[in-house]
Amino acid sequence: MDSNIGRIVVGEAELQAMVKTLGRRITDDYQGRPPLLVGVLKGAFVFMSDLARAIELPVEFDFMAVSSYGSATRTSGVVRILKDLDLDLTGRHVLIVEDIVDSGLTLAYLRKNLAARGPASLEVCTLLLKEGLQKTEPDLRYIGFTIPPAFVVGYGLDVGERYRNLPYIAEYAGSGRG
Ligand code: 5GP
Repeated sequence: MDSNIGRIVVGEAELQAMVKTLGRRITDDYQGRPPLLVGVLKGAFVFMSDLARAIELPVEFDFMAVSSYGSATRTSGVVRILKDLDLDLTGRHVLIVEDIVDSGLTLAYLRKNLAARGPASLEVCTLLLKEGLQKTEPDLRYIGFTIPPAFVVGYGLDVGERYRNLPYIAEYAGSGRG
């Protein structure tokens, strides 16, 4: 066991059950208008992969990579697009898939940016929402788990590129954050 891995916040079985639940809700809500899933790299790729397989609709995928300016641990809300989407969003039912919403600043930026591209609808599905830290009111259609405001790793979330492959979410008990 890695001593940097602290308390388990969401276990593997609980995670998988929630992914199934979210997949069923999305399947029901998007009947007749299959969504285009937009994943925010890199953190969301594990969740998006499981979520997509829990949705019984002909979904399509696209990915975006962004980086936040500011210190390593605090986002400033100024976001730079490192990799843009490949697809045109005009008239599409876009569902942004996020791993975690902390301050909500990254998401606020993304929402505004994608809304300007003329989608038919734009919603957000986040696996995790940190309690009480949002600087703007995030408009989240689907939320997996609300968690206490500790730094977590696993299931896509990293510290210096490590721990993304843990099948559960745990508090990071190490010193730096990479
Ligand atoms: P926000 O703009 O909402 O403050 O930050 C969102 C981004 O910060 C997430 O997409 C994620 O990349 C990173 N982040 C926020 N909280 C955590 C955390 O607890 N663990 C990890 N590994 N990354 C986090």
